[in-house]
Amino acid sequence: MNMAFSDEELAFRDEVRAFLAAELSDHLREGARCTPSVFVEPDIGDEWQRILHARGWAGYNWPAEHGGTGWDPVKRYIFEKECALAGAPALSVLGLKLVAPVIIAFGTPEQQQRFLPRILDGSEKWCQGYSEPEAGSDLASLRTRAVLAEDGSCYHVTGSKIWTTHAHHADWMFCLARTNPDVKPQAGISFLLLPMHQPGISIRPIRTLAGDHEVNQVFLDGAKALVAHRIGAEGQGWEIAKYLLENERGGSCAAPRLLADIAALRAAAMAEPGGVNGAWGHSEAVQLRLARLELEAEALEVTELRILAELKAGRRPGAQASLVKLVSSVLRQKIDEFAVDLYGPLGLQAPSERPLYGNSAPEPVGSRAAQLATPTYLNSRAWSIFGGTNEVQKGIIAKSVLGL
Ligand SMILES: Cc1cc2nc3c(=O)[nH]c(=O)nc-3n(C[C@H](O)[C@H](O)[C@H](O)COP(=O)(O)OP(=O)(O)OC[C@H]3O[C@@H](n4cnc5c(N)ncnc54)[C@H](O)[C@@H]3O)c2cc1C
Repeated sequence: MNMAFSDEELAFRDEVRAFLAAELSDHLREGARCTPSVFVEPDIGDEWQRILHARGWAGYNWPAEHGGTGWDPVKRYIFEKECALAGAPALSVLGLKLVAPVIIAFGTPEQQQRFLPRILDGSEKWCQGYSEPEAGSDLASLRTRAVLAEDGSCYHVTGSKIWTTHAHHADWMFCLARTNPDVKPQAGISFLLLPMHQPGISIRPIRTLAGDHEVNQVFLDGAKALVAHRIGAEGQGWEIAKYLLENERGGSCAAPRLLADIAALRAAAMAEPGGVNGAWGHSEAVQLRLARLELEAEALEVTELRILAELKAGRRPGAQASLVKLVSSVLRQKIDEFAVDLYGPLGLQAPSERPLYGNSAPEPVGSRAAQLATPTYLNSRAWSIFGGTNEVQKGIIAKSVLGL
């Protein structure tokens, strides 16, 4: 595997850097930095998506024939890395990286024309209706029922979805529902797209441990999903759901952002008063911890680059997506734990107001970075749960990689 970038790739990196220097405002950087959650606030994310869209880069992992950049995996990696280093907001994955690849791979030309342009320009927002109160890790046991109307034009969907990220901002939900209860669980599931603004849908906010309103419970009471908006065949939902989950777990490179966050913490440790020679960063214990985090993130980066090489050769990531999801989640949590330790008592602030930037942001005690430590730490507990828990990823690795 050749890990050195070619001249063309280096020129591309410079082009991305120039673009970021010109287009990424302080306001957007501040919004991204002050976000405890994985998802940035819509005002920040929407503005950044508009800028990327105007440059033709919003669909940076999409094929060119559907309005994307058509970049190969290496260019996508360079782009993600430069965005992370520059502190750019992370775009919402729900439309661009979760449902769009499914519509591209399994959708009809009409569905592609209907949905993809609006995902790309951000005019329609999405949420993911997989988990249910009694079906999370064991997703195939889901009970939300979709019954075909007599005239065959639509399904009436009844049940409840939970932990639905940004359902309160969404125009559409991609949803798994049971269309046939009489076959084995996996075979009776279909993948439906349903509009959120209709009478059969209500949303109950769930406030997280960190104080964020990010997730919800969604109640479906005969909500309508057109048959024309079913992706794939009836009963093909499980196959499509797994394709989407593989993209969710391995669809982005996590290491660049983790490395950027570690670098920011190193700088903060050198500025934070205390420890040896007046700054915590000089203390051996702090240096050791930072070095360990950096080594782990660099090892993850090499694994991600190896996966990219395989993707470039036309192979799918498979169980490696689970490996990356597991390792990056553990590392994410270690980094955020380190931040709380670094800032000591000042890092224990847990402001309930959101967002933590802009005119209405609460005044921090000490620095803004210290104020962010606890909300970020608390929010980051979710990393080992969403997209499949650590235990579930370990199960997949044990089965598919180790053959246990
Ligand atoms: C912040 C956040 C955002 C989310 N966003 C979404 C979203 O937008 N859409 C959506 O559909 N879902 C979303 N989820 C839900 C998420 O996918 C589920 O929480 C997750 O799959 C776990 O399911 P569960 O919560 O039902 O836990 P359970 O499946 O009940 O698991 C409970 C515990 O048992 C363990 N366990 C379960 N099965 C096994 C096994 N086979 N082997 C070993 N241990 C096991 C788990 O690891 C866990 O520790 C989100 C979750 C969070 C926290």
